Amino acid sequence: MDIESIYKKANAYLEGHFLLSSGNHSRYYLQSAKVLENPRVAGELAVELAKQIKLAGIQADCVCAPALGGILAGYELARALNIRSIFTERVDGVMTLRRGFEVKKDEKFIICEDIITTGGSALESAKAIAQMGGKIVAFAALANRGFCARVNSGKKAKPNCQLPYDIPFFALADFEFEIFSPDNCPMCKFGSVAVKPGSRGN
Ligand code: ZN
Repeated sequence: MDIESIYKKANAYLEGHFLLSSGNHSRYYLQSAKVLENPRVAGELAVELAKQIKLAGIQADCVCAPALGGILAGYELARALNIRSIFTERVDGVMTLRRGFEVKKDEKFIICEDIITTGGSALESAKAIAQMGGKIVAFAALANRGFCARVNSGKKAKPNCQLPYDIPFFALADFEFEIFSPDNCPMCKFGSVAVKPGSRGN
């Protein structure tokens, strides 16, 4: 499955000058919402991800996604695995399980995101589930930004990866974009101003 061309075809592989949530700048940005606006494509991606997870012998009872970005990917993954799907959301900055969603003791969870960058939100979601007695058996994402090591890629995790090393992480592809600190950004040097993805119609 050629994930890069799927993102490009959906106009989800953006080129410009982007301000990332980390405060750094990048020339490229993956807008997964544009890929997932097509339910058929979303379903196909999730089936592929589910295939990898099943092949690795991982069994889970439920998928949990950090809102907002992970919800569609998590829901489709749960459909492909024929298991439950829930999500956590931030309340006053803290990732929380709301809406009557339940976690049984030792219930097995896959934490699913659209994109894993350093894995911060996924880890917060995992902690919320673990605190309620759930067991995290895998992390999953449609795409990996190259900081964390996914199963079958052969690449090593970088020091800023926040996912635990002893839990497998599945993703369909690696996208390693160069990231610049604002005072070292070549686009800023040309006088361009970084924009927050999603804020100007992108
Ligand atoms: Zn810049």
